[in-house]
Amino acid sequence: APARRPLMAGNWKMNLNHLEANLFVQKLAASLNEQQLSDVEVVVLPPYTDIRTVQTLVDGDKLMIGYGAQDLSPHAKGAYTGEISGAMLAKLGCQYVVVGHSERRQYHHEDDALVNAKVKTALGHEITPILCIGEGLPIREAGEHVAHCVSQLDAALDKLKAEQVAKVVVAYEPVWAIGTGKTATPEDAQEVCAAIRARIAEKFGAETAAVVRVLYGGSVKAVNVASIMAKPDVDGALVGGASIDAEEWVQICRFP
Ligand code: PEP
Repeated sequence: APARRPLMAGNWKMNLNHLEANLFVQKLAASLNEQQLSDVEVVVLPPYTDIRTVQTLVDGDKLMIGYGAQDLSPHAKGAYTGEISGAMLAKLGCQYVVVGHSERRQYHHEDDALVNAKVKTALGHEITPILCIGEGLPIREAGEHVAHCVSQLDAALDKLKAEQVAKVVVAYEPVWAIGTGKTATPEDAQEVCAAIRARIAEKFGAETAAVVRVLYGGSVKAVNVASIMAKPDVDGALVGGASIDAEEWVQICRFP
C-alpha cells in the first residue's frame, strides 16, 4: 500500500476566540503523545483571528501540530477589503488552507474558476490547499454524485502540473452530510474517494495519484472515524463540529 500519512484536519469554522483557542491547543498538546502525533498528522484550522495564538503555542512548545486557515484571497494584495492574502498566511506559518468549502460556495457564491485561482495562489505560497468538493442531496439522489465530484475536481485542478497536484489534499465532503449528523457510509466515502484518485491518475499520472491524500468530511465523530479510515482510498478526515470539542477531537485523532 502507498505510504500516505493519515491527516486529521479540524475546521473550527467561526468558533473559538483567542482564549478558547489557547486552551484548546494546550489540551490537545497535553492529550496526544509523540507517538500519536507521528502516526497521524493533526492539523487545526482556526479563524484568522486565532492563527497567531496557535502559531505562538505550536512554535514555542515545538508541538507537532499543524495549522492553517479556512480560506484565502486569490489576489496578491491591494484594494480587497476584508480579504486575507496567501503571503499573509505564509508569514503566519500556515501549512494548510481550506479552499472551496461548501459553505463558501453556498454563502459566498464561490464558483469553480475562483476555487481554481485559490488553489494556484495557495500553491504559489507553498501552502497546501485542502480542496473541498462534494455533491448536494438532489445530485446524490439522482445517482450523479461521482460525475459531479469529478467535474468539480477537474475544474479546481485546471491547468495545474502533476507536481503541483501531488501537493494538493482533496476533501470529499457530501453537502448533505455536513453539520447534519448524517454521515456517509464508509462505502459511500470509499466510492467517491476512489473515483477522485482514479481521475487524478487519468489526468496527472499514477505516481501523482498514489501520493495525493484524499480525505472524507461530513459529520465525522469518534464513533465513526475508524470505519471510515479503514477504507483504502480514505487518507484522513476533515472535521467540523466534532473538532472543537477537545475530548472528542483527541479521540478522533487517536483512531488507529
Ligand atoms: C466541514 O465543515 O468541513 C465538516 C465536515 O463539518 P461537520 O464535521 O460538522 O459535518
